Amino acid sequence: MAEAASTYDTDLFVIGAGSGGVRAARIAAGYGARVMVAEEYRVGGTCVIRGCVPKKLFVYASRFAHEFEDAAGFGWTVEGARFDWPTLIANKDREIARLEAAYARNLANAGVEVVAQRAVIEDPHDVRLADGTRVTAGTILIATGARPNLGLDIPGRDLAITSNEAFHLESFPESIVVQGAGYIALEFASLFAGLGARVTLVHRGTSLLRGFDAEISNRIAEELANAGITLELGVTIEAIEKAGGQRAVLLNDGRTVVADQVMLAIGRVPNTIGLGLDAAGVHLNEAGAIAVDAASRTNIPSIYAVGDVTDRVNLTPIAIREGHAFADTVFGGTPWSVDHSLIPTAVFTEPEIGVVGLTEEEARRSGRRVDIYKTGFRPMKATLSGRQTRVFMKLVVDHADDRVIGVHMIGEASAEMVQLAGVAMEAGATKAVFDRTVALHPSAAEELVTLR
Ligand code: NDP
Repeated sequence: MAEAASTYDTDLFVIGAGSGGVRAARIAAGYGARVMVAEEYRVGGTCVIRGCVPKKLFVYASRFAHEFEDAAGFGWTVEGARFDWPTLIANKDREIARLEAAYARNLANAGVEVVAQRAVIEDPHDVRLADGTRVTAGTILIATGARPNLGLDIPGRDLAITSNEAFHLESFPESIVVQGAGYIALEFASLFAGLGARVTLVHRGTSLLRGFDAEISNRIAEELANAGITLELGVTIEAIEKAGGQRAVLLNDGRTVVADQVMLAIGRVPNTIGLGLDAAGVHLNEAGAIAVDAASRTNIPSIYAVGDVTDRVNLTPIAIREGHAFADTVFGGTPWSVDHSLIPTAVFTEPEIGVVGLTEEEARRSGRRVDIYKTGFRPMKATLSGRQTRVFMKLVVDHADDRVIGVHMIGEASAEMVQLAGVAMEAGATKAVFDRTVALHPSAAEELVTLR
């Protein structure tokens, strides 16, 4: 730990008790640092309170529709199945409150002091709390995350919601227009459709999930269409107006879609405003995120930043790693930095997408000669019901050394499979290693080791 730290009120002051901030605080405290965390809202941050966790609960809820459909094929009669939105919301809220309390307890057990207030940086070692208290700190960590892009240029946008509000709607929207085609738009479009809503997905581009392998983006478009979602591609929302109790969504091609709700999922913005970054002299990058080096250090030596506020790779496990690496480096005497190059990730649509490594397009653009192996099939579980869905899997292999450099899949349990494919890729597995691996039959995953 830095020797000068003891001259300050605290060794580490963390702003934001989300995934990155909490991990950094706990690890630093474990090294004996005196740590304070300021959180103006709820401990847990985006992932726990209004992101990954409640979203996945909603996704589970929505998938029962297909389970019921498949069940009939297996001889079950599922009578009187009804979905009740208030029950889901109440149960979800209870679980999120439990997790929030667990996070707070873990921080307390680690000896971290949580301050339930907004904190603003006054200078490189000085923080002011909302109640006027000043705290001096040897090191300040900014872990304030990001917030939804509110689409402020859209007239009538106050009539729309973002993912934040989607978790708390009082009544279930029988119809909803979702704008965007990234993770959040697709996950919510899919889960609302699964729960029975009529969903229209509006996207300015002609393909979904920019940056994903083209075949994955084409396949998910087909799956969403099969699920009854209306895809309006190449259009944007021009304005939103009231239409009785509903919303009239005016598209820029002159058409209007009327729906109970409109949800904007058009990206997220780093939370940098009103933090005192100017006063402290902290630089932002061109995208408006806090500029940091590989050690998550800003241009001010005593100020670091991790997670979505730095807009590197906006995923919870990455924020956690960045927070952990920061604490090990600054307080543990074991410097390391996060490798952002091989990150397994999933989009929890129905069916879900799991990817790790390079897309075919990226691999080709990098100048490599690549070998592509792929397969598509109807999942066994859907055979008896005849439900329209397909599994798709693709391996991208570097021809030069036979290493598997990309795995892309869509279908049930893709997230689970791709996590393990990531282990193989971290170990540098070649296609020959995949081929030598004995298949587990019958499973979808066996296709990964039988692709020829
Ligand atoms: P993304 O950046 O993934 O997608 C934003 C979407 O909105 C894109 O389709 C983009 O279109 C579109 N868009 C952006 N600006 C506009 C605009 N002005 N008008 C119309 N459309 C616009 O953002 P998300 O909000 O979906 O998610 C943010 C991040 O959160 C993700 O990138 C991911 O890192 C993380 N996340 C991860 C999840 C997971 O791991 N399962 C789940 C949810 C979020 P275009 O492609 O043309 O730019």
